[in-house]
Amino acid sequence: MNPQRNSFGIGPKVSLFTLGTMRANESIEQMYSVVKEACLAGINHVETAPAYGLAESLLGEAITMLDSEGISPFDKWVITSKILPGVSSKNGKRQLLAMLKRLRVSKIHNLAIHGLNIPEHLSWALNGEGSELLKWAKSQGLIGQIGFSSHGSFSLIEEAIDSKKFDFCSLHLHLLDQTRMPLAKIALKAGMGVMAISPADKGGHLHTPSQTLIKVCSPIEPLELAYRFLLSQGISTLTLGAYRPEDLSLARRLVNENKSLSQAEQTAINRVTKSLKDRLRETFCGQCTKCLPCPKAVPIPTILRLRNLAIGLDLKTFSKERYNLIGKAGHWWEKNDARACENCGECLPKCPNKLNIPKLLEETHIQLVDNPRRRLWG
Ligand code: SF4
Ligand code: SF4
Repeated sequence: MNPQRNSFGIGPKVSLFTLGTMRANESIEQMYSVVKEACLAGINHVETAPAYGLAESLLGEAITMLDSEGISPFDKWVITSKILPGVSSKNGKRQLLAMLKRLRVSKIHNLAIHGLNIPEHLSWALNGEGSELLKWAKSQGLIGQIGFSSHGSFSLIEEAIDSKKFDFCSLHLHLLDQTRMPLAKIALKAGMGVMAISPADKGGHLHTPSQTLIKVCSPIEPLELAYRFLLSQGISTLTLGAYRPEDLSLARRLVNENKSLSQAEQTAINRVTKSLKDRLRETFCGQCTKCLPCPKAVPIPTILRLRNLAIGLDLKTFSKERYNLIGKAGHWWEKNDARACENCGECLPKCPNKLNIPKLLEETHIQLVDNPRRRLWG
C-alpha cells in the first residue's frame, strides 16, 4: 500500500511529514542519507530555503543522485522553497532563477514568502513589488502555488488567509501552544494547505522532554503525542528537520497515522492539561488573550505561556531559551519581555482568571532571564 497523502492547496498531495532541510546542510553525504531515508519512510515533500545555507544545492544534488539510483517517491518529490519578503521585483526574479538552478529543476511546486511577519510584508506580497514578482513567476511557469510562513500576529495571519491570494501556509501549531490552531482551521476550510512548523523543537524541545512531561504522557512518547494531535486535527503536513537518518524513525512509524485520536491519546492529552492546571493552580494562564492589547506592548499571553510550561511541565530549558530570545530576533519573535511592564494595571480587570499579571510577569522574568541582575519594579 502506498503511504498516505494529504491535499495541500492546489498543488500535488503531500506526505503527513515534510522533510525540513535546515539541519542537513553540512555535506552532500549528510543530505543524501537524510533524503534517502525520508523517501524510504514514505515522505514525498521536502522543504528548503535560500536562507538554509547550502541546503538547496545539496538537496538538488541528493535528489539527482537518488533518481539515478531509481530511488524516489512513488508520486515524485514535491519541493517547497521560500523567498524573503521585501526584495525588489528585479532582485526577486534573479533570486528565483538562481534557486531553480540550485535545486536543478525548471519549476518548483510551492513557493512560500519566508516570514510574512509584519504588515509591510503582506503589502509587499499583495500590492507591492512582491505581487509583481509572484505574478511573473507564475506566468513563466516557474512555480506552482504560492504560500507563506509566518511568525506574525494572529490578525496579520488572518488577513493573509482572508486575502485569498495564498494556497498554503506554514504556521506554529503545537500541542503545547494551540493559539494558532483556529487560524489553521480557517485556512483548511478555505482549501489551503497547512504545514506545521517545527512541532518538535519549537513545540517544547519535545525531542528531549522533561521527566514530568514523559510521565504525564506515558505510555505515549511526548513527541508522538504532539505529532498525533496535529495530524488528528487535519493539519496537512508536519515539518521534521532531520540531522541524521535516525531522526526520521518516528515519522516512518506515523506516516499513515492521521486518524482521530485514540482513547489513550486523548486521555494523555487531558493529563497534560491537568498537570498544568494542578501545578499552577490559581496562577494558570488560560491563553485567552483578553488582557491584550497592553499599552506597553507586553506580550502577556506569550510570557505567561512560557511560565505555564516551565512550572506546569518542567520545561524550563525550553522556556528560558524562548524567553531570552525576546527582543533579539527582529520580526521573527516577540520584541518586549516582562521588563516593558509599567504596572499600570490596565490588564487586570480584563483577565477572566483574575491573575495578578504584573506580579506574575515580574516573577517569570526572574525565573527565566539569563543572569538576572536587579529588581525591575518598585
Ligand atoms: S500592568 Fe503591565 S502588562 Fe498589564 S497592561 Fe499595564 S503595562 Fe501592560
Ligand atoms: S487574560 Fe488572563 S488568562 Fe487570558 S491570556 Fe491574559 S493573563 Fe492569560
